[in-house]
Amino acid sequence: MSLNVAIVGSGPAGFYTAEALLKGEGAEVRIDIIDRLAAPFGLIRAGVAPDHQTTKRVAEAFERTALRDEVRYFGNVEVGGKVSLDELREIYDAVVLAVGAPFDHAMNIPGEDKRGVYGSAAFVGWYNGHPDLMSLDPDLDTEAVAVIGVGNVAIDVARVLVKTPQEMTSADLPDHAARAIQAAPITDVYVIGRRGPVEAKFTNVELREMGKLETCDPVVDPAQLPDTIGDGLDDRDARLKARNLETLHEFAERGPGQKAKRVHFVFYASPVEVLGGDRVEGLRLERTRLEDGRAVGTGDYFEIDCGLVVPSIGYRSVAVEGAPFDERACIVPNDDGRVAEGLYAVGWIKRGPSGVIASNRPDGVAVAAHIRADLGAGAKPGREALEKLLAERQVRVVSYADWQKIDAAEVAAATPPAPRRKFVTLKDMLAVLDG
Ligand code: NAP
Repeated sequence: MSLNVAIVGSGPAGFYTAEALLKGEGAEVRIDIIDRLAAPFGLIRAGVAPDHQTTKRVAEAFERTALRDEVRYFGNVEVGGKVSLDELREIYDAVVLAVGAPFDHAMNIPGEDKRGVYGSAAFVGWYNGHPDLMSLDPDLDTEAVAVIGVGNVAIDVARVLVKTPQEMTSADLPDHAARAIQAAPITDVYVIGRRGPVEAKFTNVELREMGKLETCDPVVDPAQLPDTIGDGLDDRDARLKARNLETLHEFAERGPGQKAKRVHFVFYASPVEVLGGDRVEGLRLERTRLEDGRAVGTGDYFEIDCGLVVPSIGYRSVAVEGAPFDERACIVPNDDGRVAEGLYAVGWIKRGPSGVIASNRPDGVAVAAHIRADLGAGAKPGREALEKLLAERQVRVVSYADWQKIDAAEVAAATPPAPRRKFVTLKDMLAVLDG
C-alpha cells in the first residue's frame, strides 16, 4: 500500500521534503501539501524581497513537484482550524510540520507598542501582500526610520524603503505598498546593530547592493570599523566577515555622499526605549561594547529622531495545536526532524529562523529518509479521507490548478517588466476562480 504523507506548509521546507520523498526508494508515495493560504510557496511569496526576483525562481522547481501525479496541493486549508493535527495523524501515515516562523519577537523595551513600530515579520508580510497583514496599514509619514538588527531582513527592509519607483519596476511590490512607500517622505534609514560590523549577520551580496542604489548613499562611521576581523572564526565565516568589513570600509571612504537619501549603518548600539506619545517620535539607544562576543551597555545613551521603527531581530514560530513545543527555543522539539510516531518537522519550526532557502533542503532530505526508514509501506487512507472530511466541512479548497489560474491572472495583470500584480486578499483570488 502506498505511503500517505501530509506536509503542512508549502514553503521551501515543505517542498524540499516532498521532492526528497519522491526521489526516495521504496513504497510508492502520495503526498498532500496543505497550506492555510490559497497561494503556495510560503516565504518565497511573502518573505523574499519583492526586488529579489531571481531568488523567487526556485518556485519553478517547486511547481514541477506540485504537478507530479503523486502530489496534491490543498490551499486555503488551515490545520488547527478546518482540520486538526490529530485528525491528520489519524488519516496519514506521516505528517510533516513545515509551518515556519511567521511572527515577530518582541524587543521587550518600553514604548514598543506605539503606533509606528512594526516587527519585520509583519512589515515584510505587509509589503509583500500577505493577506493576513493588509490591515497593518503602517504610517510611513516620516523622514527617518530606525531598523533594528543587522541581518539580511534588516537590509531588505531598508532597501525596499529607499529604492526609487524606477528601481522597483521589475519587482512584484503590490500596489498598496508601492503607493504608501513611494508617497513616504523617507530620507534617512538607520540600520542598527547591538554588536559590531564583524558580528553583523548580513551577507556580502546584500550589503554591497546598498552601495549601488540610485538615490541613496550608504553612510558608515569609519571609527566603528576595526582594521581586521580578528581571530577565532572558521574559514567560511572569516571569508564572509572579511568581505563585509572590506565593503563597509569602502562605504566609509566614500564620505557622506550627495544623494537625496541615506542608509546609516550604526553599530554598538542597543535600543532601550521607543520615544513619543501614541506615535513613535524617536528611539533611545545605549552605546555598547563587546565582552566575550556579547553586547554590554556602557551607560552612554543617545537618541535618533524617527517616526517608524522596524525591529528586524529574527522571526518566531508558535505552537501547533496537537504537537509539542519548546517555548524557550520556539521550535518543535525533535530528533533530526523526528517529533513523535508519524510526526516530523522541517525548516524553521524544526531548527529556528536561520539560513537561506536552500538551507531547508537537508531538513527535507533527512526527514524523507526517516519517514521511509520508520514506516516502510503505508497503512492509512490519506488523501480520500481528507477530501471527504473537507467536503463535509464545506471547506473551499484551492487546488494547484486553481492556483495556476490565479497565478496566470496575476501575471496577465502586471505591467512588464514587473513579473506579476499580486492579489492580496483571498476574496480577490477566489473571484478569479469564480469568474
Ligand atoms: P538574523 O540574520 O538572525 O539577524 C537578526 C539581527 O537582529 C541580528 O543582527 C541580531 O543581533 C539582531 N537582534 C536580535 N535580537 C535583538 C535585540 N533584542 N536587540 C537588538 N538586536 C537584536 O535574522 P533575519 O535578518 O531575520 O534573517 C533570518 C534568516 O533569513 C537569516 O538566515 C538570513 O540570512 C535569511 N535571509 C536571507 C536573505 C537573503 O539571502 N537575501 C534575505 C532575508 C533573510 P545579534 O547577532 O547580536 O543577535
